[in-house]
Amino acid sequence: MRKRDGTAGKERIIYEFRKFSGLESLVLQTKLSKLSKHLNLKIDIHTHIMPGTMPNWVQKFGYGDFIHLEHRNCKACMMKGDKLFREVEANCFDAGTRIKEMDDTEVTVQVLSTIPVLFNYWAKAADGLETSRFFNDHIADTVDKNPKRFIGIGTVPLQDIDLAIKEMERCVTELKMPGLEIGSNINGENLSDSKFFPFYEVAEKLGCALFVHPWEMMGEQQMQKYWLPWLVGMPGETSRAICSLIFGGVFQKFPKLRVAFAHGGGSFPLTIGRIEHGFNVRPDLVAIDNAINPREYIGKFWIDSLVHDEKAMRYILDVMGEDKICLGSDYPFPLGEHHPGKLISEMNFGNQLTEKLLYKNAGDWLGIKS
Ligand SMILES: [Zn+2]
Repeated sequence: MRKRDGTAGKERIIYEFRKFSGLESLVLQTKLSKLSKHLNLKIDIHTHIMPGTMPNWVQKFGYGDFIHLEHRNCKACMMKGDKLFREVEANCFDAGTRIKEMDDTEVTVQVLSTIPVLFNYWAKAADGLETSRFFNDHIADTVDKNPKRFIGIGTVPLQDIDLAIKEMERCVTELKMPGLEIGSNINGENLSDSKFFPFYEVAEKLGCALFVHPWEMMGEQQMQKYWLPWLVGMPGETSRAICSLIFGGVFQKFPKLRVAFAHGGGSFPLTIGRIEHGFNVRPDLVAIDNAINPREYIGKFWIDSLVHDEKAMRYILDVMGEDKICLGSDYPFPLGEHHPGKLISEMNFGNQLTEKLLYKNAGDWLGIKS
């Protein structure tokens, strides 16, 4: 039996990365690591990237608020129609800038995903497919050019399940991506909707990992002030997604599906007691599609480590389990952990647990057996 911990385990994990396009260089790095006792791998599963230039889809398609970029000096303005959505810096689109910042913070590998505002689930299906393909090709190209440092996951037009499945297959088989990022709801519909089941079925069959990211937060229009959609809405959205997949029976029907959730699972870990109690006292409302206690699904999905707080980190470790939490920083955005993994590293968990949190659990979620 292969040793799980220590150098042999690390070598195996990196060897397995060769399944994905362009990661051969990591193997070389591992060979070098034989000489050192510690490889200090850090895999950040939650980072976002976008292309430095994008077509003007508003002009091309003739409708909608597709994001376009206006470059001003070294910054870029993400414009939603005529309105400024967000000002971003070069680290949002320039691989070289990212790699320099990764070196500064000792991040070995970033898992690259699209910025959720670019999901474009609201667009006409064919147009959503076109924009998804554009972002996926860009991520795949970035990985190809920097195979030591990046792993890419794709986005798919979930407003049309057939097209979403087609693009998922392309991402996995052609672009060699190990997973996809999806929204916490799809145009207001919960992830428990049976229309998504064929998508989950194919994802399970392909071994395609899913990263669920909150977006289009419920109540957003009612709480614009104080950044509340991000501070209050996002944790609720993530719990909405987890509860939907549990109560809708998705984890039950597709037990091999590997799903990770952003932001430490949002409000789910702290409210699991309430969720379980609700299941027990009102099964007529809660247990209509799945009769299994929600707590039994803990340990069957992953969350990232983005909680910004030592006590919260200890709590999610206690509740969700030390095998199910992966380093995730939300790089390069201000609400993320600016030095990815610093919270974990400074909590002195010991080598074994620290390694799980910094890269081993990420390997499990991505489908890399150690
Ligand atoms: Zn994010």
